[in-house]
Amino acid sequence: MNDSKYSGATEAELGFLKEIVRMLPAGVTVHDERGELLLVNDAAANALGLDGSRPTPDLAQRQEVCVQALRGGRPVVTEESLQAGAARQVLLTTHRPVRLAGRDLLISASSDITEQKNFEDQLFRSAYFDELTGLPSRRVIEHRANSILSRDNGGERFALAFLDLDNFKHINDYYGHSVGDALLTELSKRLGRDLRETDMLSRISGDEFLLLLSPIETQQEVAEFIESTLQRLTAPFFIDGSEIFASTSVGVSLYPDHGRSFEVLRQNADIAMYRIKNDGKGAAAFFDASMEREALARTRIEQSLRLAILEKRFCCAFQSKVDIRTQAVKGIEALVRLRDDEGVIQAPGSFINLAVELGLIDELTHLVLAEIVKSIDLINDTFGADATISINVAAKQAGKPEFMRSFAQALDDTGFPKRFMIEVTEDAFVAKSHFQAEILPMFRKLGVGISIDDFGTGFSSLSALADITADELKIDRSFITDIHKRPRSQGILRAIESLSEALGMTVIAEGIETYEELAYLQAATKIRYAQGYYFSQPIFLEELKLATPASSESRGSVSNRPAQQNRQGYSRASGYRR
Ligand code: C2E
Ligand code: MG
Ligand code: MG
Repeated sequence: MNDSKYSGATEAELGFLKEIVRMLPAGVTVHDERGELLLVNDAAANALGLDGSRPTPDLAQRQEVCVQALRGGRPVVTEESLQAGAARQVLLTTHRPVRLAGRDLLISASSDITEQKNFEDQLFRSAYFDELTGLPSRRVIEHRANSILSRDNGGERFALAFLDLDNFKHINDYYGHSVGDALLTELSKRLGRDLRETDMLSRISGDEFLLLLSPIETQQEVAEFIESTLQRLTAPFFIDGSEIFASTSVGVSLYPDHGRSFEVLRQNADIAMYRIKNDGKGAAAFFDASMEREALARTRIEQSLRLAILEKRFCCAFQSKVDIRTQAVKGIEALVRLRDDEGVIQAPGSFINLAVELGLIDELTHLVLAEIVKSIDLINDTFGADATISINVAAKQAGKPEFMRSFAQALDDTGFPKRFMIEVTEDAFVAKSHFQAEILPMFRKLGVGISIDDFGTGFSSLSALADITADELKIDRSFITDIHKRPRSQGILRAIESLSEALGMTVIAEGIETYEELAYLQAATKIRYAQGYYFSQPIFLEELKLATPASSESRGSVSNRPAQQNRQGYSRASGYRR
């Protein structure tokens, strides 16, 4: 430093000042008019790699900026990115030209903003790219589609495909989340193969992807491409020692045929995908207008379901489980019914899945229990005070500890928890959720029975039964219908029967409708209990109250066919749809 001007300062003071400049945490440099360095403090020497502590970055660009700033005569703020090998350092530098002791100098002060910059970059990447698969995010694909839309002069066509992995929840539950993540990554690689520079694949949420195919000429060409993609997905994925089969449902919309904005095209592709999901999954469909009507109808049901729950427009029908030898009622099952906007009673097939999807099912289950408690005297008068009372619990609820805890508490609060059974489908047991290990013991402690509903239709196999601890197993109606005429179902029935016997579970045959089915069960199996229209339709307690009071002999048993006919008549009169 040229300090001849500072003649007033003592040597000691000058030394002191120099030391301070040297040790300043910000990097300070001074250049002369030729761009030569006159002063570099420690922080700057370190940042610029002049002290040997790190590889020297390429400083040519910095030199150039300094010379320009000197010539410009005005302060300049720059962001300098210094790359030395793989390491990057970012400095925020203020260059200030000054005239000191008759010389033009440039004083530059830098602070290191590398960390902040890295963080910003990471934020940027996570806004635009999916961390797991590295695919562009929804924003990016939306931007790409919008830029095609904005420059369109009528000639450019493109396709937007909505892809949704089938049963991903099962896979996640069964194999665990890390396998689920690995599957998504592998799947995205397979999906992304064979794309052109101008196409784009994006992951928009959990197991949902959007594919933009642009430009396209014909629908046929898109159909063939999607078909070949689906074909590629049929091969198994090998992850973590497991062989996983994963299918994908695809809905496609075309621009301009099916919409003129990204949002409409995405929605319509989604609607087409939804149709595939309902039609058996693993295939692709193009959007058409009939699907739109369907989607509208669905929205209407959704609205009315929310309203019905809000207004508590639910009631229960009860169906008995019968001892097929004595006709005695072993227990009853509560089946929820919805009174729709027009007062028509709806069976749960039309709304249960939706209630699960919309997160309304928990409230519904509590309403069912409340109705049972309210009517317990009538239930006892009708079916006997020993009859067990079964309540259905959706598999999704069964895996949720918070709900199940509150439900167990509510059962306990009735004062007669031992009367109850919960019916869950086998999916709840198979899922690697808390159900079997944590939730079941809670119910066992209360004396609540556990029943496996609709057995044979779910995700598990017979071998999975061995791991399940339940009191009762209900064989699905699909095996029972016409059992006397179907040797294959008879074989399956025998296998289920002997397995449940070995595991100490009571077997119930669901959906007996005819005398022939019953006769087969009685003659060829040891199955003791059944449920079905043959014995009794689900009935409303109110209807029983209105009908002739049950005689003391018939109480607790379903003894005569005429009485049953009578009940059916009442059900119809109230508008109940089977
Ligand atoms: P599920 O638990 O397997 O109940 C048996 C279903 O079969 C009932 O249908 C019953 O009316 C019907 N059914 C009984 N016997 C026969 C027969 O002989 N022939 C025929 N064709 N059907 C028969 P529903 O009441 O329509 O209920 C359908 C499903 O909805 C139930 O199947 C159950 O999974 C679900 N569900 C009912 N109530 C509730 C509830 O409160 N919560 C939950 N999560 N699910 C419920
Ligand atoms: Mg059931
Ligand atoms: Mg069932």
